[in-house]
Amino acid sequence: MKRILRIGIMGGTFDPIHRGHVGVAKQVKERFQLDQVLFIPTGDPHFKQGMTSASPQDRLVMTQLAIRDIDGFIASDMEVCREGVTYSVDTLEELSRLHPNDSFFFILASDAATQLHRWYRVERLAQLCDFIVVSRPGYPFDEALIHNLGLVPGLRYVLLDGLSYDVSSTGLREALAAGESVEDWLDPAVAEYIRSHGLYVGHESDGRS
Ligand code: ATP
Ligand code: MG
Repeated sequence: MKRILRIGIMGGTFDPIHRGHVGVAKQVKERFQLDQVLFIPTGDPHFKQGMTSASPQDRLVMTQLAIRDIDGFIASDMEVCREGVTYSVDTLEELSRLHPNDSFFFILASDAATQLHRWYRVERLAQLCDFIVVSRPGYPFDEALIHNLGLVPGLRYVLLDGLSYDVSSTGLREALAAGESVEDWLDPAVAEYIRSHGLYVGHESDGRS
């Protein structure tokens, strides 16, 4: 009989993908003995409609480049290729249909987790996967987070503290636009892709975090 796979889901705008995203996924994969981690760049993210600065296609390619040599890491185009607004629940419905016997673990940091109760059809989403909530500088595991997670009926989640990647894509876009070096936070192939395609050059900050 086929073994049940434990599959991590790393969703995000990845605009651009940075060492925080990849580092979190590596640590979670090891800690929770995941067989795979699917990186799924959003197409048209519900909460960030029209606000990304690189195209979905560029964000997908950068994601592919950043994880290309990492065992068990896979980039998925399923949200980029989907028409209309991207909802995680549609993604998990599709994945559950494709892999009915496998288990899914949605990985997200405390900044996103505190908004989880507002996600579209989150009650259904919570039936389709477990959640692994990781720490992120500036977004502590506080009472508000625990309260908000408690607003989602049937939510199964674990908290993983101690991860501390002090980086955001917003900060990187701003630094790149200002001509500053951010090589430490980017995979070299991603940095080269950004440079050769002229991404993030001279963009105004859109103020999101
Ligand atoms: P932006 O500043 O554009 O929002 P971001 O750095 O927050 O970018 P996202 O693509 O929004 O990156 O995040 C995708 C997922 O990765 C989210 O669950 C987010 O919480 C998590 N994440 C992003 N950066 C970090 C980090 N430095 N440490 C831990 N988790 C992170
Ligand atoms: Mg973010």
